[in-house]
Amino acid sequence: MFEFEISARSKEPGVSGRVGSLTTPHGKIETPIFMPVGTRAALRAMTPDQVQATGAQIVLANTYHLALQPGAAIIERLGGLHNFMSMPLPILTDSGGFQVFSLPKKQITEKGVTFSWRKGGEPFLMTPERAIQIQEQLGADIIMAFDECVPYPCPRDYAEQSVARTTRWEQRCLAARRRTEDQALFGIVQGSTYEDLRRRSCEDLVPLDFPGYAIGGLSVGEGLEVMNQVLGWTTPFLPPDKPRYLMGVGLPEDLWCGVGHGVDMFDCVIPTRHARGALLYTFQGKMRVSNKRYRKDRLPPDTSCPCYTCRNFSRAYLHHMFAAEEVTGTTLACIHNISFLQQLMNQIRKSIEEGRFLEAKAEFFARYGSSYGPPARN
Ligand SMILES: [Zn+2]
Repeated sequence: MFEFEISARSKEPGVSGRVGSLTTPHGKIETPIFMPVGTRAALRAMTPDQVQATGAQIVLANTYHLALQPGAAIIERLGGLHNFMSMPLPILTDSGGFQVFSLPKKQITEKGVTFSWRKGGEPFLMTPERAIQIQEQLGADIIMAFDECVPYPCPRDYAEQSVARTTRWEQRCLAARRRTEDQALFGIVQGSTYEDLRRRSCEDLVPLDFPGYAIGGLSVGEGLEVMNQVLGWTTPFLPPDKPRYLMGVGLPEDLWCGVGHGVDMFDCVIPTRHARGALLYTFQGKMRVSNKRYRKDRLPPDTSCPCYTCRNFSRAYLHHMFAAEEVTGTTLACIHNISFLQQLMNQIRKSIEEGRFLEAKAEFFARYGSSYGPPARN
């Protein structure tokens, strides 16, 4: 039921990008792909119809948040996540590792991580077995191994111990699985910003033969240059014929960088978070539509964008929505930002197929501007 096929690989120097498709029980997705995030089983202010209309092909939900509320057993009783949130697209659930490790008071032992769901609440032990059980109850198409995501920067000694523990935890995830028919379990590579540890993590996990591999522990404050370096130390040691997923990464700059290193899947909450803050991505650069210069602007946010928002609304209307604090402003901005990223991924896929990834990347940034500089339009 899971099949990953690569239809084109870049032959350009220094580019490992590839184009393919991943078949899941809820449909086929084209890669490289950007996956919008619906942490609590909803994409910010959007209905599933609106999400699909952006061209999104798969969405994310979060194990940690859903286990906390409403609880995995309730979702299971209501027919699993697809039924519960009325989402026909494939779904991927994050294991919750990232959220657990960002909690301030937690205890990590070989067994798992002890933390409190709520401030002052009873301590709870999250284990690899429990993370799998919850994800099997939720019923996503792709589920993630429970790993330890270390903060950046991380002392080498600790990163080394953590890589070894993550390998043992991922072996336990594999052993704990019951639902193997309609869910694919991806492994997660760690190793912080250490070249040898990234390689070791790959070498530990590749023999476990996961159907896909995620690259974890990035987008934790290391910056684009370090991320670029770490990807260069990681993807060459992953199986060439299996999907690779760069977790928590999805700004336009990062997408070009990741695809160039041969990454196939991306997710990020920032595009919808930015939308909520009236920040739109356009092919001419970023636009803060709440800026008063757009108060009377009759143009759509992006004149070249075919999304519902750009086909029907002016910058002036969006400006008004944000000024009036109407939730419709967030909905329209999210529709546009997610549509933009889908269009961008289409462009990237096409550029690899046509053998002009580097040229297309340069053309994109000539108009969009760079993450290092100020937004092109503010
Ligand atoms: Zn648009």
